[in-house]
Amino acid sequence: MAKTLRRAAELAAAGLVPAGSVPALDQVAARYAVAVTPAVAAAIDTSDPNDPVARQYLPSPAELATAPEERADPIGDDVHAKAPGIVHRYADRVLLKPTHACAVYCRFCFRREVVGQGPGLNPGELAQALDYIRADPAIWEAILTGGDPLVLAPRRLREIVGALDAVAHLQVIRLHTRVPIADPARVTPALVRALRAEKAVFVVVHANHARELTPDARAACRRILDAGIPVLAQSVLLKGVNDTPDALEALLRALVAARIKPYYLHHADLAPGTAQFRTTLAEGQRLMRSLRGRVSGLCQPSYVLDVPGGHGKVPVGPRYLFGDETAGWTIEDPQGRTHGYPPRES
Ligand SMILES: *Cc1c(COP(=O)(O)O)cnc(C)c1O
Ligand code: SF4
Repeated sequence: MAKTLRRAAELAAAGLVPAGSVPALDQVAARYAVAVTPAVAAAIDTSDPNDPVARQYLPSPAELATAPEERADPIGDDVHAKAPGIVHRYADRVLLKPTHACAVYCRFCFRREVVGQGPGLNPGELAQALDYIRADPAIWEAILTGGDPLVLAPRRLREIVGALDAVAHLQVIRLHTRVPIADPARVTPALVRALRAEKAVFVVVHANHARELTPDARAACRRILDAGIPVLAQSVLLKGVNDTPDALEALLRALVAARIKPYYLHHADLAPGTAQFRTTLAEGQRLMRSLRGRVSGLCQPSYVLDVPGGHGKVPVGPRYLFGDETAGWTIEDPQGRTHGYPPRES
């Protein structure tokens, strides 16, 4: 069976990067982890120099330049780290990061300074993390993220999901993962069984381009869906990948047609060496506006920015409503025409 490519020389031998780029890409790989699974390698169109799949996963020398506005901890995870593997920013939900490993390493990753580096939680640390969740009755939801929780062996995942399922005050277990897209063969019946719980379980897959939804990727999502687990999607708005109305529409339609509900479209975070992927907020708003009215409401994600510094996620438009309750409202329709909405008279 083909193996995951992790070194620049392996990528060159597979014809994915030019042989001459190996020394520069070795430097990139020494700084930020690289992994290209056989499924991702097969999805790359090597005849297209702007291939949107390649761009997400193949390292580039541009990553070595850190822009002045970029930061090692772009969304402020560290500010809210409360126990090993726990990030607790909102009272009702926590992140639990059992591993730093992912099946692939996205070149724009917002946690690129930590994912792919060092081990995840050891058994003692995992026990502390679970104790933290057990001790706080305000925690309604636990979100397994990382790293990617679906790279864990089914038995380990089963233990974690089982432990969370036994916490009386917890109602929802959510998993954030790229595995069904990037390494669909890992989504075995045993892995899906490991996700079974009495509590509500939701899986949120990360996908950014319609071409990533290969038949194998859709089949992996179907195995999860058919187990009664709803699948949502989060996507990152990425220059050169999905920053056109057509690319975004194709992605969102492909997701919904695969029974996957688009949840968030993330504005790309200020992670180091990722400037080549970032659009402006104004461009993001224009793209979202292009979807409104033209594309089914089922396909509409909310466009969010994780406010740098750990202040949380907020929707960043576009806006359709202007004015206020005293002066009255002006509303823009999907065609861009404006209409009045009366203030309350009584
Ligand atoms: C993104 C995030 C969540 C989940 O936020 P939702 O808006 O519920 O998807 C929870 N905790 C932290 C620290 C986060 O970064
Ligand atoms: S799968 Fe998620 S956590 Fe892993 S490298 Fe990609 S963006 Fe980062």
